[in-house]
Amino acid sequence: MIEAPLLEVSGLTKHFPIRGGIIQQRVGAVRAVNDVSFAIRKGEVFGLAGESGSGKSTIARMVVGLYRPTAGTVHFDGSDVSGLIGGRDYRKQVQMVFQNPGSSLNPRRTIAQSVAVPLIFHDYPKAKIADRVAELLEMVELPRNFAIRYPHELSGGQKQRVAIARALAVEPRLIVLDEPTSALDVSVQAKIIDLLAGLAGELGLTFLFISHDLSLMRNFCSRVGILYLGRLAETGSTIDVFGSPAHPYTQALIGAVPVVSDEEAALKPSIPALSGEIPSPSRIPKGCSFHTRCPFAFEPCRQIDPEFTIVGQGHEARCHLLEERTATAATVPVSPVERSAHP
Ligand code: SF4
Repeated sequence: MIEAPLLEVSGLTKHFPIRGGIIQQRVGAVRAVNDVSFAIRKGEVFGLAGESGSGKSTIARMVVGLYRPTAGTVHFDGSDVSGLIGGRDYRKQVQMVFQNPGSSLNPRRTIAQSVAVPLIFHDYPKAKIADRVAELLEMVELPRNFAIRYPHELSGGQKQRVAIARALAVEPRLIVLDEPTSALDVSVQAKIIDLLAGLAGELGLTFLFISHDLSLMRNFCSRVGILYLGRLAETGSTIDVFGSPAHPYTQALIGAVPVVSDEEAALKPSIPALSGEIPSPSRIPKGCSFHTRCPFAFEPCRQIDPEFTIVGQGHEARCHLLEERTATAATVPVSPVERSAHP
């Protein structure tokens, strides 16, 4: 029997109104997220990647209940939580780690006080809070005596470990990681990802990992979704998406990841580097939204938004070239020899 997903996002859409004029009437909309669907099973690490402005963080905020979706639903463990802004029970089950650990910790609180905030909010027994804080610091590999320090006494990596400890405090079932390493040095980033991977295995946690860094995603996630202008361009297992990227945007992103050996260079897709900027989400191009930057764009791309084409098991991408390839494959006559080889 296939296990039901822990998180299921369906048709998720978020548009922010643009207001102008004397009476501040609505003059347009920033279409940050458009009809995004994906599911995450228990114990899975699902990554959402894309450039800045692709809608990743807006999706994260809708999942944790900081933003109400314009359309679509978020189901958690089978229950619809789409309208639960600030729902107490849901907040206990789903926690978030933000990009900048410096601004997510109150400078006037000690580390112990910061880590204790969710424990107090969720009525953890007062007498046990100090022990729980010490246990959490140990889980994120920080010395217990850090409890009495203040954020300014810690490095960026140490502060992010504190933020992770605070997220773990009330034993959530899902943790949303919104660019958790992008404010850190490269060597520290790898250590934080190692820590998270260890915690995922040890505690059976489920993660939604938001990042623009494909190298980290490749090492940490079991499945990924590639976002472009608030829409999923491609989704599949990390092995399939990185091994055989189907969408020209994914190919360009993977082609731009630095490599350290000739063998890795030989495996990279040969596609011209991305040119130009991602268009504004308030002026999304008609047809395939990637056509203004795509080296393979042809006439239908400027008019028709492609649907998903299945390119492998659990691997799909939106591109007219894939639709054409699938249609051609379906009409190519099968020779008697091929037919006998695949009865
Ligand atoms: Fe490029 Fe056209 Fe495919 Fe869009 S649909 S990715 S523009 S080839």
